[in-house]
Amino acid sequence: MNKDDLIVIAGAGGFIAGALVRHFHDLGFTRIRAVDKKPLPLWYQRTPGVECLTLDLSEEANCKRAVEGAVEVYNLAADMGGMGFIERFRIECLRSVLVNTHLIECAYRAGAQRYFFSSSACAYNTTLQEDPNVRALKESDAYPAMSERGYGWEKLISEMFCQEYWAERGMKTFIARFHNVYGPWGTWDGGREKAPAAICRKVIEARNSGVKEIEIWGDGTQTRSFMYIDDCVHGIDQIVHCEKLIATPINLGSSELIAIEDLVTMAESIGGIKLNRSHDLTAPRGVAGRNSDNTFIQATLGWQPSIPLRTGLERTYAWIDQQIQDRKAGKHTVRDI
Ligand code: NAD
Repeated sequence: MNKDDLIVIAGAGGFIAGALVRHFHDLGFTRIRAVDKKPLPLWYQRTPGVECLTLDLSEEANCKRAVEGAVEVYNLAADMGGMGFIERFRIECLRSVLVNTHLIECAYRAGAQRYFFSSSACAYNTTLQEDPNVRALKESDAYPAMSERGYGWEKLISEMFCQEYWAERGMKTFIARFHNVYGPWGTWDGGREKAPAAICRKVIEARNSGVKEIEIWGDGTQTRSFMYIDDCVHGIDQIVHCEKLIATPINLGSSELIAIEDLVTMAESIGGIKLNRSHDLTAPRGVAGRNSDNTFIQATLGWQPSIPLRTGLERTYAWIDQQIQDRKAGKHTVRDI
């Protein structure tokens, strides 16, 4: 890549794509076009010197405009959130198929050299995830398919589009299956937030109010791994620039497994507080257990996400604490619409 090649990043008003924009900017790329359907004041981060466009990419004409002159296209635009969102709004999740369908075709017609799609561990067969003592998921576990309804099936079909644009038309496509990503500049309230941000927020609110209670979704035994945002953007960059990974889905996630109950303990210890726990057994809890098998990424890139959860959670906790103070002071904060 030349430093003045045009990079287009979709979903850049949100968490991961916002961080990816900053990543390429900090590496010295001078032509980055950031696109999101949200109006600019609602973007989570904006990097100075980057072209920012508000376009709804579920419409083909907008995709055509977005990718004009692009050398690389990164699709991280999707209607998504934590379990509370994806279990309730399956149609919205499924409709994200429109974004990838139009964006990949327009990228192909515009002559883009590389195209990235952000898939998810939710694409994996759910029947393999019924036990909290998980067997980590490897790339071949997506088929036979029994994905998360809505969100997971959208990811699977969009992955297939990527594979066929390489097989039939020769465009280099890349697919990462993210396992829960967290960190500063992510959604932390409003209903789309994921477990690490939600738990940090609840611990901070309990500390601030003096009401030493916390409600946990599910019985707390469900297990997950969580990848810090810096590992995520670094991983995307490496995946897209590895010829061995063309049209090949790959896990991008941490393999540090933790039960939600222990994640609460970690957040409490960062906040220096102990809370009384209650469990909402009717709340969305997702699969019983999920971890990332990193054998393939380690073998291909000689690298895997490695920032310890404790380190990342400390940074996330401090950032959410500041967001809460800023909001009280009437300052601009990350806010979901
Ligand atoms: P996010 O919600 O913070 O960002 C997604 C952005 O896409 C939002 O700003 C939204 O406005 C935008 N968008 C949605 N529909 C659009 C449209 N029609 N046109 C233009 N923009 C549109 O989410 P995120 O956490 O940054 O996730 C980015 C990608 O990574 C998504 O594809 C998501 O499915 C995937 N992913 C994320 C995680 C995670 O833990 N955060 C895990 C697995 C996969």
